[in-house]
Amino acid sequence: MLTWDSLKNQIEQCKACALHLNCTNKVMGQGNTKAKLMLIGEGPGKQEDEQGLAFVGAAGQLLTKMLAAINLSRDDVYICNVVKCRPPGNRAPTDIEIETCLNFLRAQVYLVRPSIILILGSTAMKAILGPEYKISKARGIWFERAGVFMIGTYHPAALLYNSKNKIYAWEDLKKLRKKLDEIEAL
Ligand code: URA
Repeated sequence: MLTWDSLKNQIEQCKACALHLNCTNKVMGQGNTKAKLMLIGEGPGKQEDEQGLAFVGAAGQLLTKMLAAINLSRDDVYICNVVKCRPPGNRAPTDIEIETCLNFLRAQVYLVRPSIILILGSTAMKAILGPEYKISKARGIWFERAGVFMIGTYHPAALLYNSKNKIYAWEDLKKLRKKLDEIEAL
């Protein structure tokens, strides 16, 4: 039977791709395991790798502020990444690395059973919705997959580089807040 403990164990033991060779800690993800909202990023960076926790570096600090802007705290949501090991030098994970790790993400979605998934950035969007999806075109649009509502926005690390996109991220976050309110009112 799939449980959080068994999943954590499988992730800890995983040697299915070469990323495990260079990582300090596997980063499964953390937060409210009964959350209505799940956030999915790309993969651990340096600080995440050191601490074994998702989104604890600079991008994570911005993510905390983005959540606060729509009245959410990190304890309200479950946060994880497409890949659980840090790609060296913060490169994007390859298609094969993503495919190899994807069953762990599927298991997390199964265990949390979120109503909504917020997809953070291009890598996560392609991994979750398909390779033809681009964040610049598909952000802010609702998708539904297997009864879960999904919306993508810019990755907070991308917003740190290019702050002019924050205005679009804000639009996406407002849509997210509205949908959460609708779901909570049901
Ligand atoms: N970027 C991500 O995509 N995930 C993290 O956990 C940190 C930075």
